[in-house]
Amino acid sequence: MKKAEDFSEWYNEIVERANLTDKRYPVKGMNVWTPYGWKIMQAMDSHIREGFDATGHQEVCFPLLIPEDQFAKEKEHIKGFDTEVFWVTHAGLNPLDVKLLLRPTSETAMYPIFALWVRSHADLPLKTYQLVNTFRYETKQTRAFIRVREIHFFESHTCHADFEDAERQVKEDYEILGLLAKKWCLPYKLLKRTDWDKFPGASYTVGIDTLLPDGRSLQLGSIHQYMENFSKPYEIKYEDEKGEHKYVHQTTFGMSERLVGAVVAIHGDDKGLVLPPDIATNQIVIVPVLAKGETERVSAAARDLHDELKKARVRVHLDDRDMRPGAKYFDWELKGVPLRLELGTKDMEKGVVTFVRRDTGEKTLKDRKHVVKEVRDMLALISKEMLARAAGEMEKNIVTVQSLENLPERMIRTGWCGGEECGHEIEVRSDMNILGTLVDGEKYSGACAICGKPTKTPVYLARAM
Ligand SMILES: [Zn+2]
Repeated sequence: MKKAEDFSEWYNEIVERANLTDKRYPVKGMNVWTPYGWKIMQAMDSHIREGFDATGHQEVCFPLLIPEDQFAKEKEHIKGFDTEVFWVTHAGLNPLDVKLLLRPTSETAMYPIFALWVRSHADLPLKTYQLVNTFRYETKQTRAFIRVREIHFFESHTCHADFEDAERQVKEDYEILGLLAKKWCLPYKLLKRTDWDKFPGASYTVGIDTLLPDGRSLQLGSIHQYMENFSKPYEIKYEDEKGEHKYVHQTTFGMSERLVGAVVAIHGDDKGLVLPPDIATNQIVIVPVLAKGETERVSAAARDLHDELKKARVRVHLDDRDMRPGAKYFDWELKGVPLRLELGTKDMEKGVVTFVRRDTGEKTLKDRKHVVKEVRDMLALISKEMLARAAGEMEKNIVTVQSLENLPERMIRTGWCGGEECGHEIEVRSDMNILGTLVDGEKYSGACAICGKPTKTPVYLARAM
């Protein structure tokens, strides 16, 4: 299946052929992570841990089950998740007095405990995160990594003395995200959601949206400012320097395995995955090109090359299987290994190694003596160019329009006066969802696509994957 012809089919096929998940598990939307897929997720998780640890967050792990009465305390929140939660009603044969639900997200598991942890201003800010599985009963068609019912979830939860400090946290989240997305070569936009599309219980929500090759948007995560919306019902209060009791202001940041889905969808091609070097299980694969009578000599040279790179902490694999090099290339291209090194007698005579990039297919000869530096430089270049290409594609696929007639299947940018009625009408006429307005703002001068009022704020629309 060709990516350009049927993106959706291509995606399903690549996930399966590259063996990232096993979808034969008998509960829909709950796929089995294979070793190869899980390694990629784990690499991203380790980046997330590094990013949040470095900014003073602490990793925690809260229980999976939440009692119904705790869940129900914040009215908007329960309304938002009502139709999506899985319930536990029995323990063995006995019905439970208080029903339990599987966390769809962990506010209601954490906040009663935060109320015990936070006592005084000295306990603030409280910055925590966890990487756990959450459960949401998706009614739409499930799709590996992109629409699942058991979610591999990252969630940070913070408490602050006041609104301003919580706002600083939101800004810090943007910065952490910027560093992470660079490693993952994922372009995105930070779009402030409309009031009718914000997270249940949030004061405002910022969506992290990327664009897939078929013109559909994919939400990679979201950042929320709660203000006191949860701290009031959950009684998370602190005593300030003057002895006054105040409610904390809270923020959250959530992401999931959709990150893996986005990497597959955005960077993959007709040959298979193309993994960014920072998350590739093997950054390098060495394929010895064996000639008759020279097998031993070439194999030994390939082993030396492998050992030298491994010592330099490059994630390298030597493919010494007894099969044709062509079949090996095919395999590693499907698996998305960023850089292949070929070594044959001709290379050895010239004192070089043949480098073959996965992302562009480009072949170059590099000096064997400086191979560690050459490899490092090449991986950095691949990473930089993968991000630049993807960002360029995304920008190319954003179309600015004045009228909502005959919209292409792209991300659409159009004028909006900010009125709720016009917003709903934009969604109806475009048959797309409003993703929101850029958090950093932008230069724009146009008219609302519905009422024609002049506006300086464009809104972004797309059909969601
Ligand atoms: Zn309007």
